[in-house]
Amino acid sequence: MSYDNENIFAKILRSEIPCDKVFENEFVLCFKDINPKAKLHVLVIPKKQYVDISDFLANADTKYQSNFWVSVNEIICKLNLNNKGFQIKSHKGEDGGQEVFHFHIHLLSDS
Ligand code: 5GP
Repeated sequence: MSYDNENIFAKILRSEIPCDKVFENEFVLCFKDINPKAKLHVLVIPKKQYVDISDFLANADTKYQSNFWVSVNEIICKLNLNNKGFQIKSHKGEDGGQEVFHFHIHLLSDS
């Protein structure tokens, strides 16, 4: 599947539609999920265009992948989740429950 520039997260990245921003740096944007499945439910998306986690792992260079996960850790620290329980999920493909085809991770916590 090729990347569709009109997906909802691409529009959020271009500020064409609003989001409830939690964190942003040069690599990622993190915002609250519009339909939260836990007490805390945020999404972390890379600023570069990847369709899903497979695309990201196969095609993002290792430095960018590292910057992505370092940013995720910054978000975990900012949200004071280090010493609490949380889940990280990423849906891949329609069969995997993916609805928005811009790679993202879900960060969820009920702590
Ligand atoms: P997926 O199933 O693709 O992994 O998850 C997509 C997530 O994006 C869903 O949890 C859904 O609630 C969330 N979502 C869909 N549209 C919007 C939106 O316009 N704004 C925000 N903040 N979240 C959205």
